[in-house]
Amino acid sequence: MSACPCGLKDPYSECCEPFHTKQTLPATAELLMRSRYSAYALRLVDYLLYSHHPRQHGKNEKEKVKQAAEGVDFFRLEVLDTSQGQVNDKIGKVEFKAFYRHGTELGCIHENSRFKRYQGRWVYWDGELFESVSD
Ligand SMILES: [Zn+2]
Repeated sequence: MSACPCGLKDPYSECCEPFHTKQTLPATAELLMRSRYSAYALRLVDYLLYSHHPRQHGKNEKEKVKQAAEGVDFFRLEVLDTSQGQVNDKIGKVEFKAFYRHGTELGCIHENSRFKRYQGRWVYWDGELFESVSD
């Protein structure tokens, strides 16, 4: 049993893997967000596209996502805040910090992500980055 990259207690096979293999759908925006973080960590480009609203895809989206996922190693996720995004909601927000390693450098993405329903399931819409303050 290996731990899920998203940081929840369940092993990967009982946490984000069923979402990645499309056996089940994440019930909340937070779970969808966690599954996208895990997909970045595991470089599951197809899932990252599938879980991003198709209307928000830019040109060469697949290549961009691939480069983003392959450029860094994500090693920790902290979910800081959520609003809406529950089973009966149509929109949701999740604020998180995703920590990564790039070569010998450590970095952090601090983002407020917005989620919507697409064909009944949660998908990522867009996100606002917080300015990173370095001490
Ligand atoms: Zn997980």
